[in-house]
Amino acid sequence: MSDSIDTVQRRIKDYIPHADLLANKTVLVTGASRGIGRAISLAAAAVGAQTILLARNAEQLDRLASEIIDNAGIEPCIVPADLEGAGIEDYAMIASLLSERFGGLEGLVLNAGMLGEMAPLMSYDPLTWARVFQVNVHSQFLLLQSILPLMAQREEASIIFTSSGVARQARAYWGAYAVSKFATEGMMQTLADELAQEDRIRVNALNPGRLRTKMRAEAYPAEDPMTLKEPAEIMNAYLFLLSQDSRGAHGLSLNAQGV
Ligand code: NDP
Repeated sequence: MSDSIDTVQRRIKDYIPHADLLANKTVLVTGASRGIGRAISLAAAAVGAQTILLARNAEQLDRLASEIIDNAGIEPCIVPADLEGAGIEDYAMIASLLSERFGGLEGLVLNAGMLGEMAPLMSYDPLTWARVFQVNVHSQFLLLQSILPLMAQREEASIIFTSSGVARQARAYWGAYAVSKFATEGMMQTLADELAQEDRIRVNALNPGRLRTKMRAEAYPAEDPMTLKEPAEIMNAYLFLLSQDSRGAHGLSLNAQGV
């Protein structure tokens, strides 16, 4: 049984993480090279986490790793990978690398995402549709299948799916992105229900809300980015869900910036 959504939203709003919140915890962040994933990686490392950084752009991951070493003194593990092209064997390799180096995993943030095009469904490009689903949905399923056994080895673990406003109320022209985010919420609910009795792995979806990132600028080219919060400003929501402080939160569709 999970705490109610209102209770958990209140706890997120008032949350102040302590300095060694994630000490000795290992956290994998997909889409770590920029935007929200980059901020999550920095924030998790700042409270002691061993971070694993996954994205395509190895140069940006290297730069982030150097920043984390300078700030937190913990060397991240870099996993350059293309979630669009990766196959089952690639996920198996990632899992065996993590198993050898860390033995298990306490945190998984499924954050990588692709916007696709803004177009009516009737003229939406089928190839773009498939690419968006590969990155936003199928890769999450494949990564989970390979990684979950590593999380099950830990006393407690947390999985955060990344949601969106259009995952809960779709809007015209958001095409594959909106539908893939509904699927992400569905995957979260299915997994949460399957793990409910086991009571050791928390599974939730978090909508970060409007934030100043490359994806947001692509979706709203005319918007003044300075009217938006930076990803770093909402990191307490991620730290809360990653940490044991969120015990009792399970199977919920949450908002990092309130409702
Ligand atoms: P960005 O476009 O800034 O970052 C996306 C991240 O995903 C990058 O690190 C990118 O890395 C990675 N990524 C994209 N495609 C692939 C791929 N094929 N393989 C591996 N990694 C990939 O987006 P945001 O930071 O804004 O978004 C992060 C998440 O938050 C997304 O799931 C998005 O849907 C969600 N979100 C964002 C909101 C916002 O306002 N910004 C609002 C609601 C939800 P690289 O290019 O190096 O591979």
